[in-house]
Amino acid sequence: MQNFELNKLTRYDKDSVIQEIRRVAALIPGKRLSRTQFDQLSKVHSSTLHNKFGSWREALIAAGLGERFDDSSESWNSDEIVQKLQSLARQLGRRTITQREFNEHTGIGQRPLKRLFGSYGRALEAAGLTQSPAGRRYTDDECFENLLSVWTNYGRQPNLNEMKVAPSCVGPKAYVLRWGSWRNALQAFVDRVNRDNENGPTTARPTEDNKDSAGKTETTKRINEEDRHEIKLGLRYRVLVRDRFRCVLCGASPATILGCKLHVDHILPWSKGGKTVSENLRTLCEECNLGKGNKIEPE
Ligand SMILES: [Zn+2]
Repeated sequence: MQNFELNKLTRYDKDSVIQEIRRVAALIPGKRLSRTQFDQLSKVHSSTLHNKFGSWREALIAAGLGERFDDSSESWNSDEIVQKLQSLARQLGRRTITQREFNEHTGIGQRPLKRLFGSYGRALEAAGLTQSPAGRRYTDDECFENLLSVWTNYGRQPNLNEMKVAPSCVGPKAYVLRWGSWRNALQAFVDRVNRDNENGPTTARPTEDNKDSAGKTETTKRINEEDRHEIKLGLRYRVLVRDRFRCVLCGASPATILGCKLHVDHILPWSKGGKTVSENLRTLCEECNLGKGNKIEPE
């Protein structure tokens, strides 16, 4: 009978784990045994050893292999770590990396991060990446908002590669993983824009079930939409398209002026009773928008 090897240990007591460290160590030639090398061959992840023994170094010492500890990994400086974070983010096409991914790709553990930055979150910050809790996935809303800001930046439908770079904060992979392809993601965006119909109720139309109060329900919902300060994504998109992704006062656009940011603005301010409908909305650049404040423009 052939022996099948499980790719996970059956037992995780210290003796079993130590045996596994020795087994793997014997497979890796050379003086140093890095966590990355170890994790490629081991049935137990180095982070488990870290938790069990306090550190990777302690784990090696427990296995009688203290001399194979790679102390160069403890002598990183902050510039090197920032560079590693940035290059890994580029490689993965993302704006954030979990600490576990970082460890798996670089072998750099918690300790140098904590010593140099105080926390992993601060290290991400220093590298200009966004923080995100482990395993977090972007919501549809975050994906669509990000797509709209990139769309506004170019004044046209962006291509997948443009999602890799600023101002995009959600990488291309997030879209492809969520919708199966970039094309499907764009279709989902368009569906969403169409669903955010400015004149319709937010959710369902009156159904047979609430026919008695149907008229009232619909009226109430529509009033709520128009009275909301928040401008729904679909409505913002339509106003931006109508205004051709340019400031209606000075003509500035992100496509032609570096750093130009566009906002969709209430013409009659919402605080003065202005409605959230396309006739009362317009595209302004940040400068024109800030200059305006809460004033009503003289006609
Ligand atoms: Zn302007």
